[in-house]
Amino acid sequence: MSKPIKGACLCGRVRYQVSGPFDAFYLCHCSQCRRSTGSAHAANIFTTVDRLEWLAGEELIKRYMPDEPGVISKCFCSHCGSLVPYTSIKSGRLIIPAGSLSEPPGIDPQHNIYWSDRADWYDAGLTAKRTPQDPDD
Ligand SMILES: [Zn+2]
Ligand SMILES: [Zn+2]
Repeated sequence: MSKPIKGACLCGRVRYQVSGPFDAFYLCHCSQCRRSTGSAHAANIFTTVDRLEWLAGEELIKRYMPDEPGVISKCFCSHCGSLVPYTSIKSGRLIIPAGSLSEPPGIDPQHNIYWSDRADWYDAGLTAKRTPQDPDD
């Protein structure tokens, strides 16, 4: 196992560390992931559950359990709502939301999955003007 890397939610109450190397890194453009994240896609790193250690705030983590089968689950900090790592019910693998990591994971995204389901505006976003900060500030 490599040196653990740290991660946290937005408010910082939930903190964890996870050891690589990681098995896979997918950007998922499916409609469920877009809705669940409120963004263009989920950015998920996959590994095994034994690689994760909670450092703080584990008691604040809530799990959304879907009412219907086939709908994705997720775990989040109940104080700030940020996605945090969780174990997939279907596969039993650990899923780490890449955006919650505080350090580079040492793996790049390998696949854009559910590519044909991507948001109508996704491609335009890739070529939109790039600015160092919010242009309205
Ligand atoms: Zn939080
Ligand atoms: Zn998805």
